[in-house]
Order: sequence, then C-alpha cells, then structure tokens
Amino acid sequence: MDLCDYNTVKRLLASHGFTFSKALGQNFLIDPLVCPRMAAELEADRNTGIIEIGPGIGTLTKELCKIAGKVVSIELDKRLFPVLRETLSDTDNFELVEGDVLKLDLNRLADEKFSDMQTVKVCANLPYYITSPVIMKLLESRLGAQRIVVMVQKEAALRFCAETGTRNAGAVTAAVSYYAETEMLFEVGKECFMPVPKVDSAVIKLTPRKKPPVAVTDEKRFFEIIRAAFSQRRKTALNCLSGSLNIPKQCVADALRQIGAQENARAESFTLEAFAKLSEIL
Ligand code: SAM
Repeated sequence: MDLCDYNTVKRLLASHGFTFSKALGQNFLIDPLVCPRMAAELEADRNTGIIEIGPGIGTLTKELCKIAGKVVSIELDKRLFPVLRETLSDTDNFELVEGDVLKLDLNRLADEKFSDMQTVKVCANLPYYITSPVIMKLLESRLGAQRIVVMVQKEAALRFCAETGTRNAGAVTAAVSYYAETEMLFEVGKECFMPVPKVDSAVIKLTPRKKPPVAVTDEKRFFEIIRAAFSQRRKTALNCLSGSLNIPKQCVADALRQIGAQENARAESFTLEAFAKLSEIL
C-alpha cells in the first residue's frame, strides 16, 4: 500500500472511520522522499533498536523497519491501532506500545524491548504541541540513545539548533546543548503533510554527549538559572534573574560582573559557560 498517495490514505482512513485530531498534532507525512531521508540519517543497522514516537498510520515506521533490527512505536491514539495493523501487516520487526510518551518510563521500555540490540536510536515526526517536553525527556532520561532524528516546527528547529550566546538562542537552546550536539538537517514544506498544517517543519539531529560541555555542581540550580534568565525576553538578564529568583538586584549585578557580563546584557548573549558560572555564584 502506498502511504504517500493522497487518495490511498484517504480511502484507508475512511475505511477505518478515522478523523484527524488537531489536539494530538495529527498531520501525517505523505511525501515519498522525507521518510527515507529521515531514516537514512539515523545510520541504523540490524543491531539497532529504534523508538518511534507517534507512528500515525505508519509511513515513517515502514522506512524504519527496513533499516533497523527492531522498531518500537509509542502511540497515544488507540483509533490508529487497527490502521497500523493493516499498514504494517508485512513487517515482523515492529511493536506497538500504547501510551503517552510523556508518561512512559523510556529507560525501562528500552531495557525490555532492546535487550538483544547493540544501540538505541530515536526517530519521530513529533506532535508539535509537546515538542520541547519530549526532547527534554529524551535527553534528561539519559536513555543511552546514540542518535535522535526528529521533525519539529521550523521555528522550534532554529531554536534547538542555535548556538548559545547568539540572537536565536532561548532557554531550550541552552538546555538542549548541555545534553547534546545539535544539527539542522533539512526543511520540510507544509505541502508534505495531510492535512496541510499552518507552518513549515524541519528535521534535526541530536547526538547526546557522553559528558556535559561545562562542569556544573547543581544541575537543578543550573536549569533554574537558565529558565529565570530567559523568563522575559525583552528584559535584561539582571531584571529577569532578580525578579524570578527573588535575589536582590545588587547580588545579581555582582555575579554578572564576576562573569564579565554587562549589567544590561540579555540572556541570549550568555554562553553555556556563563550560565554554569552564574549557577555556581548565585
Ligand atoms: N509518524 C506519523 C507521520 O509522520 O505521518 C505521524 C506523525 S503526527 C505529526 C504525530 C503522531 O503522534 C500522531 O500519530 C499522534 O496521534 C501521536 N501522538 C500525539 N500525542 C502523543 C503522545 N503524547 N504520546 C504518543 N503519541 C502521541
């Protein structure tokens, strides 16, 4: 069955009485080039176990099954199960796990499902309403995933892949770059989806680091400082940090001086090293 053919997909969904849920971010890929390209970026082989988030009707899943030892896909919408049973009936290395990716214990899932695999990788066309929490969960859980290739909204991709200390950086840039190296792979136009979304997308690659690039004594405090510094984009880091964390302005001003930053600096101008130093001082 050609899952990239608009009419085939329409007929398939109609035969299962399926209607798209906007709330679950259901925009399915129907471009024949995107899924093989995403799968190739994983550099997987028969010893690789792949976790997929949100298989939808299985378009990307099929490509992943061609290149990996085993694919375990997590899907929240039970209405898609009979569809997936039909579309993936000819694959023997696919397993469907029902649930909310944000609630599942991914380390346990990987241990249970991939005990016979040498490496674990993650691939997804992510539901956009939970992009950042999913990416942070994948990184924070220290799943041991060697590579993560995901499609996200283009704006989000630019944020994730920005360099810290530059204008495009946000709190999520700093948080992600603590855990992983990031790379923007390619853009995907809205016409590649069914139904057509309002925004364009992009595929990014995250390679989790073996060791964080900066030394931090208290990770919880480090992330608190990052969130606080970016809490109001138009304000200076001094005002944001002092307001959000209830620290007297003079103390924050002293800390900024110690790390060589101006009093009127904004959070986007801070590198990861600057945030690490601030979290040690404050
Ligand atoms: N992979 C398919 C494709 O590329 O055509 C579908 C991608 S669609 C953007 C997102 C998928 O994630 C949908 O199948 C949706 O039902 C599923 N989903 C949404 N929220 C989820 C959650 N919290 N946990 C697991 N799956 C979820």
